[in-house]
Amino acid sequence: MTWVLNGVYLVAAVLFILGLKAMSSPKTAAAGIKWAGVGMVLATLATFFIPGENGGLAYFAPDKTINLVLAVVAIVVGGGVAAWLGKVVKMTDMPQMVAIYNGMGGGAAALIAAVEFTRPVPPTGLHAVLAMLGAFIGSVAFSGSVLAWAKLQGVMGKAVRWPVQNLGNVIHSLVTLGLGIAIVVVGPHPILVVAFFVMALILGLALTSPIGGADMPVVISLLNAFTGLAVGLEGYVLGNPALIIAGIVVGAAGTLLTLLMAKAMNRPLTNVLFTPISGEAQSVDGPGGTMKEASAMDAAAMMRYAESVIIVPGYGMAVAGAQHKVYEMTKLLEAEGVDVKFAIHPVAGRMPGHMNVLLAEAGVPYDQIFDLDEINSDFPLCDVALVIGANDVVNPVARTDKSSPIYGMPILDADKARQCIVIKRGRGAGYSGIENALFFADNTSMLYGSAQQAVAEVVTHIKELS
Ligand code: NAP
Repeated sequence: MTWVLNGVYLVAAVLFILGLKAMSSPKTAAAGIKWAGVGMVLATLATFFIPGENGGLAYFAPDKTINLVLAVVAIVVGGGVAAWLGKVVKMTDMPQMVAIYNGMGGGAAALIAAVEFTRPVPPTGLHAVLAMLGAFIGSVAFSGSVLAWAKLQGVMGKAVRWPVQNLGNVIHSLVTLGLGIAIVVVGPHPILVVAFFVMALILGLALTSPIGGADMPVVISLLNAFTGLAVGLEGYVLGNPALIIAGIVVGAAGTLLTLLMAKAMNRPLTNVLFTPISGEAQSVDGPGGTMKEASAMDAAAMMRYAESVIIVPGYGMAVAGAQHKVYEMTKLLEAEGVDVKFAIHPVAGRMPGHMNVLLAEAGVPYDQIFDLDEINSDFPLCDVALVIGANDVVNPVARTDKSSPIYGMPILDADKARQCIVIKRGRGAGYSGIENALFFADNTSMLYGSAQQAVAEVVTHIKELS
């Protein structure tokens, strides 16, 4: 039985890895998530076939009936809630959903360790060390992720800071690890175990509380990596290969994503964690010049008679759900012989791949969508850059103003196009809270309105002109 069980776990792990690989391309991402889901179902079902200590199946032993009932109830309730949330969650609320799911993973890993420490024969030696480390990291990931969820959901304020916070957190970490080491050395005395878990949970809150604004998705990704690590460690403690492999995959993917996001925002990870920006609007003097307003008809005419148009979507397009109208406009322009491309900034929107997912949902072909590195050299040659609900990712001060919080972040060079049209509702700032020099540039016109409605008006006028 054991080798069959391990065989199923191995198949599940292979499905996780193949699924993750497939998720790296929009063409195969939907299939990838299904493969990973099948892997998860297999791994969950296999768990019910774990052999018991006295022969038979552990979950079906007469004295373990309560475990069987609890496991089934947990799967039905947890699976039901997750399926419902997966259907109703808005794309703009995805970061907090990822945060809360991630927190559950970290909490589950910590609970495995808690159960191990309360066994009549608790783990010793390497097993005890790994169980303790998994509990430590899992608890931090759990409470940190729940706090991240609360901030993003608007349940609580953004960033909370206090004096000597970083030093306090270092001391807090050392004391918590000291308690963990005591558990390993003298055994899991209940007072030690409770103190260790309470300290680790508070540490997760303390580490996440000063972080806010644009740094939140980076932190969620980092906590995700923590969860993967905790799950991998507890997988070793339980001798479960599927948990070990899944944990390592999540840990590695989360770490890479964290580093990529920090790089795309030009914020070293140490800065994100130890000198966070708040994300609350800062009063920075606006650039000189005035914003020029354009009508939907002006925008339609500029694009209808252009040879090339590059569309830069941002968070505002996501909030407005304008992607379908944007693609309708694209097809109209192409029918008139205009070359239309989409330029995607790595941190446009509120999560990595946010814009790619929306454009794919609207049916925009993948070969029309270009990353920052691929498309930036096209802007000086293009007639019109149409910025839809994007702000920070096209702010030229990132290139020029050393005092700006986004200085050094690579941006899409929409300002270098011959004409630039910006669709947004008013004078609202971007996520970093600063004014955008692009909006005041001579070659920029502002088309005010919610993205969906503004693009719909442009579509009507393009049809008239055609
Ligand atoms: P942004 O800087 O947040 O700006 C979005 C703009 O959309 C706002 O200026 C707003 O102006 C406009 N807007 C809002 N609702 C709108 C609507 N219904 N219709 C039209 N416009 C609307 O967006 P971004 O350029 O996409 O930049 C993303 C930001 O998130 C960056 O600062 C990035 O560092 C941060 N971030 C992203 C990620 C990620 O993974 N994607 C991760 C970490 C951080 P009005 O209010 O005037 O309309």
